[in-house]
Amino acid sequence: MKRTACCYCRYSSDKQQQQSIDYQLDKIQEFCLKHNITLLHKYIDQATTGTNDNRTDFQKMIEDSQYAQWDYLIIYNYSRLSRNVEDQMFYQKLLRQRGVMVISVEEKFDSSPEGDLFNLITAGINEYYSKNLAKRSFGGVMQNARKGLAIGGIPPLGYEVGKDKKYVVNEKEAEAVRIIFSKYAEGWTYNQINRFLNENGFVSKKGGEFRGHFVDTLTNRKYLGEYVFNKTSKESSRGSRKYRDKNEDEIVKIEGGMPRIIDEKIYSYVQHRLKYARALHRKPARLTKYLLSGILVCGICGFAYNGASSFPKRLKKPNFYYRHYRPHKDLCKYDDIQSKHLDSWVMKFVIPRLFDYEKIKELQSTINSQVIEIKDHLKLKLGTLYSDLELMKVDLKDKTDSIAEAKMTMFIIDEIKDLKKKIQLKNKEIESENRKLQELEKITLEELKYYLKSRRDQMKRIESKEDLDNFIRETIGKIELTKETIKVYLSYDRILNKLTGQFIKVFEQSKAEVVIIGKELSKNIIENGIDISLNQTHQKEEEFGQK
Ligand SMILES: [Zn+2]
Repeated sequence: MKRTACCYCRYSSDKQQQQSIDYQLDKIQEFCLKHNITLLHKYIDQATTGTNDNRTDFQKMIEDSQYAQWDYLIIYNYSRLSRNVEDQMFYQKLLRQRGVMVISVEEKFDSSPEGDLFNLITAGINEYYSKNLAKRSFGGVMQNARKGLAIGGIPPLGYEVGKDKKYVVNEKEAEAVRIIFSKYAEGWTYNQINRFLNENGFVSKKGGEFRGHFVDTLTNRKYLGEYVFNKTSKESSRGSRKYRDKNEDEIVKIEGGMPRIIDEKIYSYVQHRLKYARALHRKPARLTKYLLSGILVCGICGFAYNGASSFPKRLKKPNFYYRHYRPHKDLCKYDDIQSKHLDSWVMKFVIPRLFDYEKIKELQSTINSQVIEIKDHLKLKLGTLYSDLELMKVDLKDKTDSIAEAKMTMFIIDEIKDLKKKIQLKNKEIESENRKLQELEKITLEELKYYLKSRRDQMKRIESKEDLDNFIRETIGKIELTKETIKVYLSYDRILNKLTGQFIKVFEQSKAEVVIIGKELSKNIIENGIDISLNQTHQKEEEFGQK
């Protein structure tokens, strides 16, 4: 059930900044939006002093509260009610008797007003005022931010500051930004992107060459037209500067607050790629010798298979294989598999079949039948999550009621805080599962063609071991080994540029067969590396592009 509220704002002429009422209202509306509360009425008193109670709207609010249709009175802070703590308590008690709970947006009294009121009293009035003043002066900067105005510093690549202090697009730079996003999405490395920009006459914000990485650019939400201010604060610890995200409510975010340069779809795809790249970064080097490390996992316990080597004297050359390093006792102690057999099977058997235009419809239906299965599974899971949530809410209501009946102990307050945290987490989980469910759609033939074509394009650009490594990681989601079979999965996120976290099985073959095929295919492989001759897969190129 949606809850209702009224709010009360007061502006007193002494020592306060101009936009005070605006700022209070802003904060209050933001709070209501966040907590799904409907604001029914606004009471506002302008330019009177707070030392007496001759405040028209305040009196009216107290009067109206007798017949209140609202559950809450929301105020910016407690000094809005009265400067006098005794009065504050009086009005709070009065309102509570009339079924209205007072919430202060700034002081976070929302979680348990009574509990925090104790703190308020003990904290003392002096401290209270000084804290308040500090908040107010910061409020002025925030107010500018709320209007979407530039606040110091060099604007990000693609923007400059216009006459009215708002951000405007610098077309040439914006083009560079679009190039950075689209090339990165296509699988280019930072070095390749840098070279491309420098060779095509683009210059960095400082007027020089582009170099280094583009993480800051690729994660800047301003390019989505979202004005963000105060996102991070600098903390220095032992000489190194660390950035820490601030609390949600200290961050100003205005959607559409500045001109947009990048569209949502490519932005979210890039975020996913970045996340993936970071995960890859933690597994260093030894690139192509073990082509599949990082995507090869045990089908039973989910742990990785890693590259390993031995040097048997009789062979006179090293032997490279994949090994399950942390098997689950009794469950999965599997044999090693020679890396060149498995790598060859993937490169020369699986990938050509994946790219086979004749079988694209078959692949489509394989994918879509799994999408339906996964959706059904997600729906079941959501059902359970929702019923968990309901139980928690009932529990919370019981506990809150006992506070209203003045049976409170510090104990209960802690329990309520705890419960609220749990509810918040549960809500987040539901949100994320719901998002997956919404994102998860069947693939169309067009989408599948587009995806496969882009994979083939990337394959054509393979020039180095690193390129090959990237190609494999972009194309194959994961490979599962069990005692009998080997299963190849694609990452559905990569296919659809979405965040569903799902894998789709596209190949399954017995391990014995894989070894036989792999042995055969690896015969003419050059020592110490994978042959990336792609003749088999190039032949149907034209059909692919045209249809
Ligand atoms: Zn295992």
